[in-house]
Amino acid sequence: MSMPILLLNAGSSSIKYQVIDAEDETVLATGLIERIGEASSTIKHKTQGETFEAADRYADHTEALAALVAMFDAHGPRLANVQAVGHRTVHGGSKFDRTVLIDDEVIQALVDLSPLAPLHNPPGIAGIKAAKTALPDVPHYAIFDTAFFAHLPEEAYTYAIDRTVAKELSIRRYGFHGTSHNFVSHRMAHFLGRHHDELKMIVCHLGNGASVSAIAGGKPIETSMGLTPLQGLVMGTRTGDIDPGVVAYLNRSGMSVPDIDNLLNKKSGMLGLCGKNDFRDIGAAIAAGDADAKLAFDVYIHRLVFYIGGYMALLGGLDAIAFTAGVGENDATVRAAVCERLHTLGFHLDAPRNELRTGRAHIISTDDSPVTICVVPTNEELQMAREVKDALEA
Ligand code: ADP
Repeated sequence: MSMPILLLNAGSSSIKYQVIDAEDETVLATGLIERIGEASSTIKHKTQGETFEAADRYADHTEALAALVAMFDAHGPRLANVQAVGHRTVHGGSKFDRTVLIDDEVIQALVDLSPLAPLHNPPGIAGIKAAKTALPDVPHYAIFDTAFFAHLPEEAYTYAIDRTVAKELSIRRYGFHGTSHNFVSHRMAHFLGRHHDELKMIVCHLGNGASVSAIAGGKPIETSMGLTPLQGLVMGTRTGDIDPGVVAYLNRSGMSVPDIDNLLNKKSGMLGLCGKNDFRDIGAAIAAGDADAKLAFDVYIHRLVFYIGGYMALLGGLDAIAFTAGVGENDATVRAAVCERLHTLGFHLDAPRNELRTGRAHIISTDDSPVTICVVPTNEELQMAREVKDALEA
């Protein structure tokens, strides 16, 4: 028996998708729709080793989904065989701690949560509505970025802010990238031949967005993102931690709240520090003697080391650490810089292993390293497919 599941990840102007057979975990199709709402939108569809492309104007997510359906009709696989749709959903607040079947009540809850995630939840809702119209006969599930962190310890998720205000406005740490932290921590435990709940682990998800989590007893006890995905590590274009006083100061200096939001989310991080947010470009700039790129790199590593060290203290030790996502999986220089700084805390990197690119989970520490250091490719779509399968079979 096969169980094809369509996984959708809808952003404001793009939709990424995959069809995964949840029985044997093979990928049947992948695709990307871009520039939705702009003059010329595009769709790229890959299946059975072939790539198909089309360009038109898709005014909104409904028209984009119609283009997706047309691609499947023309080139396969058959959408009629799809047994469920899984939607990546950024903010589940404290309401959702697992994957849920989407009904009108869930959609309303997502609308109610939109003020907490104005950049992410509205396009996600648009994607859900369009997909439910295009594929009305199968169940649709929401998989939340926040769900894995829904049961953080209270002292970890509580901000030291007036309790009444916090309660009224649901201000607390939620954490994001949970699908990836969940997948990678389980993958690492499995790969090391250990049970997930017997390891003290740290997962560094270093992509354009970046976050780190600490896991013990099978559960996350800390993570670096907060109320929004802006807190924590230095990211491609996001500040990560700054003094919250900066926000009030910027506002008093004449910058509007939307402009501040834009500055902190889109024009900061590595991009703000050195004009580049792709680590390949940053590496090349450092090699060419660019002082701004060097400082940006140093700030990035400093923050990451700071978090890992702090999480080791909270965990009371560390068995294994995973590097994952675009930077974590591919940039050996970042991994080497982090591990060098943490050598005295038991990070003994094996330099040749660190340079290996296998595309699979592998150990990059020495055989006698007190902390086992791993590269573990993430696969959020596969984790989503597994969760939808579990929900279908429940
Ligand atoms: P997201 O899903 O957050 O958009 P990814 O996890 O795909 O991001 O990571 C994208 C980032 O990974 C790129 O911006 C780039 O900085 C980094 N990256 C990708 N490939 C490489 C590579 N070969 N070497 C160094 N960095 C890389």
